[in-house]
Amino acid sequence: MQLFFLGTGAGVPAKTRNVSSLVLKLLDELNEMWLFDCGEATQHQILRTSLKPRKITRIFITHMHGDHIFGLPGFLSSRSFQGGDTPVTLYGPKGLKFYIEACLNYSRTRLTYPIEIVELDPYGGEIQLPNKWKVTYLPLNHGVLSFGYRIEEPDKKGELLVDKLAEYNIPNGPLFGKLKRGEIVELEDGTILNGKDFVGEDSKGRIVTILGDSRPCDNLTILAKDADALVHECTYQADETSMAHSHFHSTSAQAATVAKNAKAKNLYLTHISARYLGPDAKALEDEAKSIFPHSHLVYDLNEFSIDYRK
Ligand code: ZN
Repeated sequence: MQLFFLGTGAGVPAKTRNVSSLVLKLLDELNEMWLFDCGEATQHQILRTSLKPRKITRIFITHMHGDHIFGLPGFLSSRSFQGGDTPVTLYGPKGLKFYIEACLNYSRTRLTYPIEIVELDPYGGEIQLPNKWKVTYLPLNHGVLSFGYRIEEPDKKGELLVDKLAEYNIPNGPLFGKLKRGEIVELEDGTILNGKDFVGEDSKGRIVTILGDSRPCDNLTILAKDADALVHECTYQADETSMAHSHFHSTSAQAATVAKNAKAKNLYLTHISARYLGPDAKALEDEAKSIFPHSHLVYDLNEFSIDYRK
């Protein structure tokens, strides 16, 4: 499981940062990738990576501002040309369906794969997915309806400790299955083994929270509770609180406070204004770190692994 940032800029494309988009890579877990927002030229950013558009099976849109959706029609269309024939489900606020259908219809675009567009409940809810994966979403505070998404992986059962079993010379077969289920088995020589002694600990499923643009509000912290990875916008520096407020955005310090209160493990700061270059961008990270040490200011094409909690 990895987070791959395609665009980390706010508002308009800049030389150093493209507009919002990121991929949650679930290749080992589900053989899928999920795209969150799709600003203009997201497909150009994908060309600079080894990401395969046909592996993107779900697209989550946080809100309908142009810097988060202007890349969608182009991406969907190119996915057809690149051999994508598997279905795509899109989730987002009301208006997403009309927007996509209008773009595809007026440009006479025919996709080679089916799409389903799910307009989400403005008050929040839960998206049920196969294999016990769960996505919860809640509205934030951004002037227009903006969602935050909380992705929860199911817990992972402990692995059979093969090395520990090696000394017993157990033949391949049903005994392994029984031990893995924690059952008690008797070997041919009369040795009794308890499966529970040979199975590693269960791993708690990982939690990834990806928040849309927002002013500070309670739902940010609710969605981010105990998250292993928290993606939060950081449009302004710490001392620009009133500017952030009037534009319905957050500062570095406000983002870090959400991570701290939610007891998140790592905070990734994105949606960075092009005004902050070099040392100024570093200053944003330092401001966040002074409140929440595990803060990372991200750049386009950065990738981060999300590990299980020990
Ligand atoms: Zn916005």
